Amino acid sequence: MSLALPNTTNVPPGGWFYTVPETGARFTGANYPHLESQIIGHYHVAGVEAPSRDGLFQRVQEGICAEHPDYCGAAVTVNPSSGNAGQHVYQMALQCLRTLIAHLAGSGERVTQEHAERRAGVCVTCPQNQILEGCSRCNMNTITVIVSKIVGAKKTSVDDRLRSCAVCHCTLRAKIWVRHSAAWNHMPEKQRKQLPPHCWLVTEKGS
Ligand code: SF4
Repeated sequence: MSLALPNTTNVPPGGWFYTVPETGARFTGANYPHLESQIIGHYHVAGVEAPSRDGLFQRVQEGICAEHPDYCGAAVTVNPSSGNAGQHVYQMALQCLRTLIAHLAGSGERVTQEHAERRAGVCVTCPQNQILEGCSRCNMNTITVIVSKIVGAKKTSVDDRLRSCAVCHCTLRAKIWVRHSAAWNHMPEKQRKQLPPHCWLVTEKGS
């Protein structure tokens, strides 16, 4: 199972660091873009071909996760420096929208307050509960309108701590209210495999 950083916003334990295998030079950065610019500059000065930006991010991620496996999980983290990052996240956010729309097209039935609270309690302690990154192309207004249609006036006691799921990019304060089948049936197999075992989408399967 490959490990991935839970996000690129927080400084990992031990900081952002990388040792260039071709030269042995070690770099640290205050954040990922800072680290990346130093490494790419070093490759140029050393006359060594630099890896692609996504390739470099993967290498940095592997290095940090190898030293701090407890901090990393089995999720996909988007390289914030990648030109494709916004598009990638946007596509994931669209997947979320399809899920919510499917819920509206179905019975539209919500789970009970108690059920939603239980799910929310799982999500708030989950490392995949994250602020959506690199989503400059997302139409957040559209998402917000659909979320309010799904949720109505309903809230859980931890709504202020619910963000987006880093695995599927769904807005959690909406997702926790939909029927399991509405969330599950539209989720690609690749994403299902990235869900942690404690996730309610996994534990409610077949119930
Ligand atoms: S939906 Fe599952 S994987 Fe996503 S934040 Fe909630 S518990 Fe974690």
